[in-house]
Amino acid sequence: MTAPIINIDKISKSFGALKVLDNLSMQVMPGEKLALIGPSGSGKTTILRILMTLEQINGGHIQIEGEQLYHMQKNGSGLVPANERHLAKMRQKIGMVFQLFNLFPHKSVIDNVTLAPRLTKKVPRIDAEKRAMELLDMVGMADRARNMPAQLSGGQKQRVAIARALALSPKIMLFDEVTSALDPELVEEVLNVMRKLAAETDTTMLLVTHEMGFAHDFADRVLFFDKGSIVEEGTPNEIFSNPKQERTQAFLKKII
Ligand code: ADP
Repeated sequence: MTAPIINIDKISKSFGALKVLDNLSMQVMPGEKLALIGPSGSGKTTILRILMTLEQINGGHIQIEGEQLYHMQKNGSGLVPANERHLAKMRQKIGMVFQLFNLFPHKSVIDNVTLAPRLTKKVPRIDAEKRAMELLDMVGMADRARNMPAQLSGGQKQRVAIARALALSPKIMLFDEVTSALDPELVEEVLNVMRKLAAETDTTMLLVTHEMGFAHDFADRVLFFDKGSIVEEGTPNEIFSNPKQERTQAFLKKII
């Protein structure tokens, strides 16, 4: 049997007195496309941020490809993260696209995409640019390679952000509400790029979204979260057409 690429084992996470994740376990298989849905504040983004090592956990274990993401010693604020070298290595397995693009404003589109491979993987500029142009072509932004971010629409910026995250060839891609800051008419162009990505690559993908129609098309499996726990999970058809739990039914009734 194939081993999970992500194994989250009984993790907990608090912000001060606020317990956001409580003894949460979940596994993700290689190549799986997962949608995380649920009310605001249920801890979905926190899970992505923990995987990206942007937040520490207070308890539990996480393995990526069988390797511990965090060391397990305790200090005052929780578990001490692994040393920087280990974290940097683990981070190369994971790319993340944020709600607010986060492009480097003073760098051109192509420089945004080539920066990380050149700095962290020491890829020569000419090779990094060749790969960047392929990725920009895939997201429909090759003709904007020399533009600055300020010259782009929100949807275009987000497509560049996707290309940038792909430039390190991560095995896992995390998408956090990538369309929620966009004007409605720009949402579809970003979703189309992601549909294509999901269909054409075997990258493992975790998506936090409020776009239920999109989650339905994109995901192999949908997890419904409430208050830091998984209430229900299943195929898109099971969750959207035939939810079993009352909380899932109530949430879907409100949002769709
Ligand atoms: P979701 O993505 O499901 O909307 P989040 O993971 O963003 O939920 O947030 C879960 C809870 O944790 C919310 O109550 C949020 O206010 C809180 N939270 C998230 N990040 C922080 C932080 N850095 N400091 C304090 N509270 C936070």
